[in-house]
Amino acid sequence: MSKLMIIGCGGVASVAIHKVCQNDGVFDELLIASRTVSKCDALKEKLQGQTKTKITTAQIDADDVEALTKLIKEYQPDALLNVALPYQDLTIMDACLAAGVDYIDTANFEPEDTEDPEWRKIYDKRCKELGFSAYFDYSWQWAYEDKFKQAGLTALLGTGFDPGVTSVFAAYAKKHYFDTIDTIDILDCNGGDHGYAFATNFNPEINLREVSAPGSYMENGKWVEIPAMSIKREYDFEGVGKKDMYLLHHEEIEALGRNMPEVKRIRFFMTFGQSYLDHMRCLENVGMLSTTPINYNGQEIVPIQFLKALLPDPASLGPRTKGKTNIGCIFTGKKDGKERSIYIYNVCDHQECFKEVGSQAISYTTGVPAMIGAMLVVTGQWKKPGVFTTDEFDPDPYMDALNKWGLPWKVVENPVLVD
Ligand code: NDP
Repeated sequence: MSKLMIIGCGGVASVAIHKVCQNDGVFDELLIASRTVSKCDALKEKLQGQTKTKITTAQIDADDVEALTKLIKEYQPDALLNVALPYQDLTIMDACLAAGVDYIDTANFEPEDTEDPEWRKIYDKRCKELGFSAYFDYSWQWAYEDKFKQAGLTALLGTGFDPGVTSVFAAYAKKHYFDTIDTIDILDCNGGDHGYAFATNFNPEINLREVSAPGSYMENGKWVEIPAMSIKREYDFEGVGKKDMYLLHHEEIEALGRNMPEVKRIRFFMTFGQSYLDHMRCLENVGMLSTTPINYNGQEIVPIQFLKALLPDPASLGPRTKGKTNIGCIFTGKKDGKERSIYIYNVCDHQECFKEVGSQAISYTTGVPAMIGAMLVVTGQWKKPGVFTTDEFDPDPYMDALNKWGLPWKVVENPVLVD
């Protein structure tokens, strides 16, 4: 039996909270703490009565380390699951260290203000040395390794679907299917249709930053960077059909590149419809994706935050989104001296997710693994001092939990490869 504290109460958090409450044999107490406490209260109202988990709520600004440390110390959870925004990763890790609590998240750190000169100095150096220019990277959180080790605490980074499940798939392939893995292609296909000309499936600011950045992949341990959306492939996905997908930079490439250095090439592809791409290009060209504040009629406005206010709330897409997602990894390599290739993947139905927890499949495929990561940490199955990504533990209990908690997976031998 354990006590979990969750920070954030948006799209992903809502699914993670539903799943924690379904898993009340493990989680008997839950504190939902977020910036807008009314959202936490509404979810508590909806779920209590359907679960044995005792739910409490609190208002917190997770940028305020002192206030957060005080709240964690008062509640004394066994672990803290951060499903706020990547901007809060470091302050929440600091508070977990100060309060002596294990830390779990779903996305690596990126700064809210990319013009911050202190951050920019380190970023520019990293771009030059490593050769990829995404605003997010693991270096900031990997730097906490010694602190977590010395404190005897676990930090589990990136337990969403991608990153998260995709890295568990890599560890599973390595354990059960290959002697050596040569290439990994991570494919993220969303065949869902919400009927809007333009909307994002999770936090618009984070999503648009990720998608409009230059693409990159790893080859022989080195980053290769390409202009945004300049590598396009078509793939036929089970449950969805043929879709155009584009090579993007993605955070698990960095972790897999470090932890599985024998893999010769690691790429990430995501599907996009033409309407999404046209809108994004246009918004970018007119400056609406900028994070630099402008002065408008005496008021300071951050363009991308203003855009977020105009776009549909991702949480509201649930009832309208129809279709399926198909997310997985194609591995090629060798087993017993013979060439082998497999695709490990999950197919998830937007409407089924909505029926079960009131959210679309993007939030569902992230929130379920967030709960699973938290469960493995609090039950001690994935607990060791230090900072880890999901490819660094035994994948088997995680894979079993995916089947049990709503994200069943399949392994197909000899899939069509991506050229
Ligand atoms: P939302 O914007 O829907 O939710 C974010 C929540 O965090 C909101 O409840 C927000 O509060 C709260 N929050 C923001 N700032 C603070 C703060 N300073 N203090 C306390 N609470 C705060 O985001 P999503 O649910 O779409 O995404 C959540 C996380 O999941 C993100 O880190 C995202 O990158 C990650 N993600 C990971 C994926 C994966 O596969 N690994 C896929 C998709 C998302 P308020 O309600 O007041 O706005």
